[in-house]
Amino acid sequence: MTSLITLKGVNKYYGDYHALRDIDLTINEGEFFSLLGPSGCGKTTLLRTIAGFESVSDGVVMIGGKDMAGVSANLRPTNMVFQSYAIFPHLSVAENVAFGLRKRSDLDKAAKQALVDDALDMVGLGGFGARAAHALSGGQRQRVALARALILKPKVLLLDEPLSALDKKMREQMQVELIRLQRHVGITFILVTHDQEEALVMSDRIAVMFEGRIGQLDDPETLYRRPNSRKVAEFIGKMNFLKADVKAVGDVIDLDVAGLGKVRVAAEQAPEPMNTGPAVAGIRPETLAVLFDGETTVRKLVDGVVDEVVYYGDMTYYDVRIAGVAQPLNIAMKNLIGRPVLEVGEKTRVVWDERSLVVLR
Ligand code: ATP
Repeated sequence: MTSLITLKGVNKYYGDYHALRDIDLTINEGEFFSLLGPSGCGKTTLLRTIAGFESVSDGVVMIGGKDMAGVSANLRPTNMVFQSYAIFPHLSVAENVAFGLRKRSDLDKAAKQALVDDALDMVGLGGFGARAAHALSGGQRQRVALARALILKPKVLLLDEPLSALDKKMREQMQVELIRLQRHVGITFILVTHDQEEALVMSDRIAVMFEGRIGQLDDPETLYRRPNSRKVAEFIGKMNFLKADVKAVGDVIDLDVAGLGKVRVAAEQAPEPMNTGPAVAGIRPETLAVLFDGETTVRKLVDGVVDEVVYYGDMTYYDVRIAGVAQPLNIAMKNLIGRPVLEVGEKTRVVWDERSLVVLR
């Protein structure tokens, strides 16, 4: 993998407000990289410092081995697609896309037309060139914006919440298309999103940001399975947290977990260096199960009582109380054929597995 963008010790202040704090980051050529975090965490600011729309207060931004200090946005090998559909409604689709080529006086009309056609094909709008832009759907407008950004063949495409204005179905469809498009053109995409599912689906790697800092930078599976803090775990999906007391740390970790008892886990189940003493054990709802009558398991069991049932059609979410734990365990069950839906107040047994635990400080 070749690194394309490097940020070293980047800080950004707006007056007294410290918007980016000591950002160190490398993004690779051809990577689909996402900046994920709650509103106000600084992800747009970080994207804009890469684009050159914001200067850094301190630190270095390098693209393709060159220091970008003093290099204006239009001279950087980046192009940006915004959340709102920044297209011209009074122009045709083809004219909107050709707008990206307005400064290319070296190209004649036919060459420009060929590039426009290619770009429209790429985003699935082949044959739409003559249409009026104002007559397009939200998803189609965002494709026009993508085509216009890609026609300049930037090294990096910066996407600031490009799908957030679309409805759920269209957003999911565009996610798949964006992945395909990125693979096809092979350039680096950097996506800003506050939607954890979107980031998990689309990205090679994700930087999760809180309050101007990167909390964790990993591939989607590692982020989900081994979040390095409670904050990351809570931001990405759901997780049950149980009080724990770490007894010994070595090749394995021995701990007492509230409600579950003595547990031994592999050292890598603690993403951060661990000491003996108070800790938290995290378990995802889908790694727990309720044991239905007639089912057996070789895994561990703990008695519980159903406290809440939320039925989703394909899934049922149960809250189950177990002894010694104040907060009920949240458990996600697939509604398979022949499986009843339990009722509030029913006694049940919860199946758990120490391999799905993550141990957090
Ligand atoms: P959102 O998802 O809401 O857009 P974000 O993570 O992208 O959030 P940023 O837009 O990067 O957040 O903003 C980070 C912080 O910096 C916010 O508290 C914001 O109010 C502040 N900020 C951003 N731009 C400016 C500015 N030009 N002047 C002053 N403060 C700013």
